[in-house]
Amino acid sequence: MSILPDLKNIKVEIQKIENRLIIENNISLSILRLDKIFPGISGNKFFKLYYFLKEAIAKQKKIITFGGAYSNHLAAAAVACKIYNINCIGIVRGEKPKNLSHTLSFCKGQGMELKFISRKNYKEQTEKDFKIELTDKFGNHVFIPEGGYSKIGVAGAELLSDVYPNKDFTHICCPVGTTTTLAGLINSCSPQQKIVGFSAIKNFSDFETRIKFLIDNPLRVKFFLCNDYHFGGYAKSTNELFFFMNKFYEEFSISTDFVYTGKMMFGVIDLIKNKYFPQGSKIICIHTGGLQGNLSLPSDSLKF
Ligand SMILES: *Cc1c(COP(=O)(O)O)cnc(C)c1O
Repeated sequence: MSILPDLKNIKVEIQKIENRLIIENNISLSILRLDKIFPGISGNKFFKLYYFLKEAIAKQKKIITFGGAYSNHLAAAAVACKIYNINCIGIVRGEKPKNLSHTLSFCKGQGMELKFISRKNYKEQTEKDFKIELTDKFGNHVFIPEGGYSKIGVAGAELLSDVYPNKDFTHICCPVGTTTTLAGLINSCSPQQKIVGFSAIKNFSDFETRIKFLIDNPLRVKFFLCNDYHFGGYAKSTNELFFFMNKFYEEFSISTDFVYTGKMMFGVIDLIKNKYFPQGSKIICIHTGGLQGNLSLPSDSLKF
């Protein structure tokens, strides 16, 4: 296969969830089940990759991208490149380990070529120098920054509003890593809608800088980054979080991941408890997928 699907033709399930708390607060709460689309490229990643894939296919270039040992982005890029017959190189932060993480073995299994670079080099390289070095080494390629963090990634994330009746909602909630998905939502929602991002990172000190880098007109809509539900920081977890995720699964049969969507749903329910959302709000939470990340947990942490 070498033609990207027209995302307008893809319809994503919207699951309405209800319990006493939600009903008592006169809230309508729905989950956009992006975790169910494109097996293997679940969630927001396919959207962020969309225009990069398009270029790689049109110009028959390889893709080079970046990530850590548990990166959902690398996993998604590996699957997408396999589907669309694109050669791809994944540059992984850290020295090559004796045993590859399940994510990296998965990427390799999909045909992604893995290269390891030290954390220090990873950090210190400016994008420009890196690009020159990579072109010298690997030839012409499509460069995808880690997590798709770029205006091209944002343009892809904007396509999210094509796959569900976005205008029906007063609040749109999503987890935040690189900010790219949030930026796409900000660019594509209507001015009266509110976007609430749930940070997966502890000290999001460069959030404003990121928004400015990604978006031309951030004042178009109201958005808010909620920083209260990171549970200790990126990819950190607590028993309280696991307890919540298990309960959420028992109540609604929805699996969440412990890095992003579990924390977002904890936050949304907690904000409903704290009357953050006005009565009558119609909330949609974007389930951005990422379930492969749960494989790195001890097997008794989650019941699903
Ligand atoms: C990558 C990822 C995010 C973060 O998206 P950004 O666009 O980087 O902010 C959120 N949820 C899941 C499940 C992810 O894998």
